[in-house]
Amino acid sequence: MPETPEQLWRRAAGDLRMPPVHEWETFPFDGDMRPRPLREPVMREGPRHGEGGVDCRRCTAPDEEYLWTNERWRLYVIGPTGLPLVALLEPREHYGEPGDLPVELAAELGVLLGRVERAVRSIGEIGRVHVCRWGDGSEHLHWWFMARPARIPQLIGSFAAIWDDILPPLPEDVWRANVDAVAEALR
Ligand SMILES: [Zn+2]
Repeated sequence: MPETPEQLWRRAAGDLRMPPVHEWETFPFDGDMRPRPLREPVMREGPRHGEGGVDCRRCTAPDEEYLWTNERWRLYVIGPTGLPLVALLEPREHYGEPGDLPVELAAELGVLLGRVERAVRSIGEIGRVHVCRWGDGSEHLHWWFMARPARIPQLIGSFAAIWDDILPPLPEDVWRANVDAVAEALR
């Protein structure tokens, strides 16, 4: 029997710990910190954007908004970002969870995750391309590709997603050149 959210909350809410963030080189913030109180479970989670494919912006977006497409997948970029490049890969059709993909699409996804990662890495001066999936905001399945800069040890690891909001956005021309490099690599 899995622990229910109510059981988890009762067990944990009064026993939150502060991890030793002052020892973590990659932690982006400084100062006196403490965990926020853990709020009680809700009866039902709020809907994600495009739930059930209804009014889903990703389903209706034209191909012109994308950096790369094929018959089943589309890739777009957001930015200029604080990181050198942030791109998102999504199926044309509306699927929610990775485990809901038909096996043919899932197999093609495996190949594409590598292909897009290589294309983003080809920008140069990239330390790592983080390939991530959260999916709590928008239901339409999407994979993140977050390029983190090379040789700045503070920016490694999962906090790169936070550093993206802390670093100033790239100059437009530098960002555009990065986008062009990815497009060229995918051709
Ligand atoms: Zn959709």
